[in-house]
Amino acid sequence: MLLHDFRLDMQAEDDIIWKHANDGIYTASSAYKAQFLGLTLSPLDRMVWKAWAPPKIKFFAWLALQDRIWTADRLEKRGWQNCGLCPLCKREQETGTHFFFKCRYTLRLWRLIIEQLGLAHMDTSEWHLDETVNAWWQKRTDNNIPNRDAMASLTMLVSWVIWNERNARVF
Ligand SMILES: [Zn+2]
Repeated sequence: MLLHDFRLDMQAEDDIIWKHANDGIYTASSAYKAQFLGLTLSPLDRMVWKAWAPPKIKFFAWLALQDRIWTADRLEKRGWQNCGLCPLCKREQETGTHFFFKCRYTLRLWRLIIEQLGLAHMDTSEWHLDETVNAWWQKRTDNNIPNRDAMASLTMLVSWVIWNERNARVF
């Protein structure tokens, strides 16, 4: 860009122009919004924090996504008393992946919900291929899922219901 007819006026005061508002004037709200420039949502935001669910269920989901809920395999590793076999199907050792998407009980409940709600995009027959709770959960809420925010809520709520059923059988 060419500058011409430019004179430095030593008498004039400098102006401070706030670039985050169209009128160049600083406001607290424009400063607040400026903090989020360039921020993108993390997968956890999409999967958990931005979706609708009561806070305690979001916290449960957040722990689950890091494989930190107290399934039998994790208790066993610490030498703590545990239920051993999955309390829902009583066939396999309870792990996070088993509980969330491999247990026959879990799968049966999901298939009922899929049928009731007409969720044609969900196919439980491929769920056994996922190796972590996180990988499975991401597929429930990724970009090509229609209505992904609702799906994120549904995933949390259904998993929470199953977790409570499981606890009712253990304790
Ligand atoms: Zn099971």
